Amino acid sequence: STFDSMCLREDLLRGIYSYGFEKPSAVQQRAIVPITTGRDVVVQSQSGTGKTCVFSVGCLNSIDLNLREPQCLILSPTRELAEQSQKVLLALGDCMNIQVHSCIGGKTLSEDSRRLDHGVHIVSGTPGRVFDMIRRRHLRTRSIKIMVLDEADEMLNRGFKDQVYDIYRYLPFNTQCVVVSATIPQEILDMTEKFMRKPIKILV
Ligand code: AMP
Repeated sequence: STFDSMCLREDLLRGIYSYGFEKPSAVQQRAIVPITTGRDVVVQSQSGTGKTCVFSVGCLNSIDLNLREPQCLILSPTRELAEQSQKVLLALGDCMNIQVHSCIGGKTLSEDSRRLDHGVHIVSGTPGRVFDMIRRRHLRTRSIKIMVLDEADEMLNRGFKDQVYDIYRYLPFNTQCVVVSATIPQEILDMTEKFMRKPIKILV
């Protein structure tokens, strides 16, 4: 299969090719289309399989560029990973004029709130700062359509479970959910049961 055959928007497809991706990896071949058609998806895979592109393409394809509010929320266990995803989103969305904000600790709250108030399409962040910005009403959740939990097992290992559940409570009913995790322990299964409806499970 090819990226061409995935019914992706034209400006995103151009971004994918100009980033240098020619052919989708195995996980991309299996997971992108279910996400773009609105299904909840659990992807069990390690780094290096192309998982970042899976949820990035899924998110970018869904964005209404005229709506300057967060529409996708990506949660990661570390600042570095959140920034890495932001970079990939900006690169793949290069032909879309996409606004992506990384909402992570270590930056001042005022920087964060200024950027969020100015209007962004996608937020990639760590659970602590994201929840803080939601509570302070700088991160509006009403237009969020997709939540991604990247390296979900690592997020639990780092003690972010309660914050992930706290954030979930602020999201619109029926928010689509994508979970990426190298391992699927019971706590992840509990989350998928709470957050997801009939998820497709993809093991790479
Ligand atoms: P990830 O699993 O998201 O950490 O990605 C691992 C590496 O594979 C990154 O350096 C990506 O840029 C690269 N990559 C992901 N998808 C593709 C693709 N379809 N073609 C070529 N390289 C890719």
